[in-house]
Amino acid sequence: MTRLWHGFAPMGAVDSAEFVLVRGDGARVYDRDGREYLDATAGLWFCSVGHGRQEIADAAAAQMATLAAHHCFGDHANEPAIALADRIAALAPLEDGAVFFGSGGSDAVDTAGKLARRYWSLVGQPKRTVMISREHGYHGMHAYGTSLIGIPANLDGLGTLVGDTVRVRWDDPEDLEEAIDRYWDRTAAFIGEPIIGAGGVLEPPAGYWEEVRRICTERDILMIQDEVICGFGRLGTWFGAQRYGVQPDLITFAKGVTSGYLPLGGVIASAKVREPFWADGAPPFRHGYTYTGHPAVCAAAMANLDIIEREGLVDRVRELEPVLAAALEPLRELPGVGDVRHVGLLGSVEFSAEARATRPTIADEANIAARRHGVISRALRGVALQLSPPFVSTPDELQAMVDGIAAGIREVARSRV
Ligand code: PLP
Repeated sequence: MTRLWHGFAPMGAVDSAEFVLVRGDGARVYDRDGREYLDATAGLWFCSVGHGRQEIADAAAAQMATLAAHHCFGDHANEPAIALADRIAALAPLEDGAVFFGSGGSDAVDTAGKLARRYWSLVGQPKRTVMISREHGYHGMHAYGTSLIGIPANLDGLGTLVGDTVRVRWDDPEDLEEAIDRYWDRTAAFIGEPIIGAGGVLEPPAGYWEEVRRICTERDILMIQDEVICGFGRLGTWFGAQRYGVQPDLITFAKGVTSGYLPLGGVIASAKVREPFWADGAPPFRHGYTYTGHPAVCAAAMANLDIIEREGLVDRVRELEPVLAAALEPLRELPGVGDVRHVGLLGSVEFSAEARATRPTIADEANIAARRHGVISRALRGVALQLSPPFVSTPDELQAMVDGIAAGIREVARSRV
């Protein structure tokens, strides 16, 4: 039996069937039997610069040999953390911001939730504790994110974790407006992903984000964009907010900031949120993690951002967007497929309600079948297959990823007869 407890896994089944990877190079990974796969998901949406980048390993190793770790509590800091905060603040679509680091997306969401509440108490409105999120949204697995999530199964058997969370429809600004009016002077913030990722790769209707920005500004509600997936280039702009032309008050990020080479996440706070904490005599934000601003991790992030900038990978995402779209569109004709979606280098293939009703495990089965065809995908919410390839994938590799997924879907359809 394995002693490794996998995330989101039926361990009874996984115990005898672990899928063990040993090596990666570009858009490809290799299992311990030497089989090669195209990594169509870039790990869990993170490996933007591709696998096997010696430059990132070298940057982390050099920092480890100099000052491997220290903390950023009180007046302590380190050079890589300061440099990275400057760089992220300059890239972000909000002026005069500041960056609070953690170790991943879930603690970024926790930080943003606490920061929103603490901001309102600091400016004299302590009743503002309600956080509004969207159905199908995913905000990680810490208590705050689990409470905000729009994927009900993730809350099964947990009871109430963080209170004062409210869900609205994912694509309807009016529903948000009504919720804010219902909770009115108790509403602290609205949080949403520019494109919903784990919930199925869902792009809201045109104008949605501008409308949300207008509503949040008019009612003086903090707008948080959870950019854990979209941030650092995945939509062909540094942040998803830029694609939709809006300025959030807070941004959460993780994944692409290091391409997953080391765990890092954080929150970018706008001047509006930051300033009360920076004021003379203001109390500290009593929050922080042991690994907030970890120097070796920040050095890896700097090397990753160097690669993205030097190789023009954000522009490359824009160039590859129509290639992925053209490869995916024909999959609409496959048996059992109900919808195909794509934005930037994000894509999903959703099974029809009818196909899922007759075969509830169809997405999981197609995912495993795609792997037999040499492509790593993932079942999202049990309804769709994920594509979020590395930015360095070639057009041929993108086509081969889609072909492998299509072959998996066809195989499952055939096995029904
Ligand atoms: N927020 C979003 C939008 C995510 O997609 C994820 C993870 O996929 C998280 C938060 C949580 O990030 P992590 O798994 O790094 O804690």
